[in-house]
Amino acid sequence: MPANKKLLFLPGDGIGPEIMTEVRRVIDWMDQRRSVTFDITEGLIGGAAIDETGVPLPEETLEAAHGSDAVLMGAVGGPKWEVLPFEVQPERGLLGIRKELGLFANLRPAIVFDALADASTLKLDVVKGLDIMIIRELTGGIYFGEPRGIEDLGDGNRKGFNTLTYTTPEIHRIGRVAMDLAAKRNKRVCSIDKANVLETTVMWREEMIKVGEEYPDIELSHMYVDNAAMQLVRNPKQFDVIVTTNMFGDILSDCAAMLTGSLGMLPSASLGAPDESGRQAALYEPVHGSAPDIAGQGIANPLAQILSFSMLLRYSFDMFEDADLVDQAVQNVLDQGLRTGDIMGEGKTQVSTEVMGDAITKELDKLAA
Ligand code: NAD
Repeated sequence: MPANKKLLFLPGDGIGPEIMTEVRRVIDWMDQRRSVTFDITEGLIGGAAIDETGVPLPEETLEAAHGSDAVLMGAVGGPKWEVLPFEVQPERGLLGIRKELGLFANLRPAIVFDALADASTLKLDVVKGLDIMIIRELTGGIYFGEPRGIEDLGDGNRKGFNTLTYTTPEIHRIGRVAMDLAAKRNKRVCSIDKANVLETTVMWREEMIKVGEEYPDIELSHMYVDNAAMQLVRNPKQFDVIVTTNMFGDILSDCAAMLTGSLGMLPSASLGAPDESGRQAALYEPVHGSAPDIAGQGIANPLAQILSFSMLLRYSFDMFEDADLVDQAVQNVLDQGLRTGDIMGEGKTQVSTEVMGDAITKELDKLAA
């Protein structure tokens, strides 16, 4: 039997603990039915950590994260903590852990399950079968560049400024993540920039071309960000893997997310650089927040959390067969017409968080029989 996989679970706030419970059931199923076992530690982050320890990212959580093979997070935040100063709000815990683990690559798949294709605001034939991956650089670019600030000009006016910087290594490492991923998909990478206006992205494009030369089997193309925004809603299926800067990725990944029409279905991964032993820090979480408006009611959609776990299997452990099994179980359950409230449609059966989790494990049973 392979060695135990060490996971850190950070349920966080709001619906986080409820949807994590359903992942636990998938893991219990795997422990019993597949040749793998998971060693799970649970930690505090966000508002839950503030309530217990006074800070959104306790030292013990960080230590546990460094000692784990992968981290699975729920969500953080909620009205209870909004009155706190900005630096100690729950969301600082999330930004803190991303920074401390050096998570520079954010992976957001936009997949449209056939059964949910009519939930998109776009025409069925534009989104049906959509399966694209957006890779956003997460620790550089204009969100972190110096100098930054707001200056008083002394004449009653002010000047606000931020700096867009990228270095060669920053571009090469995110470029390689994109190429490696494309190699396992349809072998196409589109790098998004604004090389007709911004010097930093002229360099981004030049460096991406150099990375592309290391991967002769991958087709590399380039697109300006304004065109990319248009193409994402005009014909999103033309893309396979998209790689882009922090700010462009922030905007384009939300745009792509909405092609799928359902926040409760969207997983994500954030990856660091592999160390000498090949170990790579990684954090998986749903794209949605803590949904305080429905927390505690047992009606949250657990599928984005379960699909985040499937990404964990795929990208941290190369457990492709198991990840495919989880994805297939999700698809089958949707095909059967089961829906939580957020993805409810006409003629479908509305179920609770727990019943949805139950249906997934039953489906896993059938698939593995
Ligand atoms: P949200 O994603 O929590 O909720 C937006 C809407 O979608 C709500 O109506 C909610 O009920 C619904 N929703 C979200 N996930 C759902 C699910 N799994 N099942 C069913 N319905 C779901 O965004 P928000 O309301 O803007 O933010 C709430 C809190 O979450 C805030 O404190 C915010 O800062 C935080 N937040 C955290 C993260 C994170 O932890 N990564 C991300 C975004 C927002």
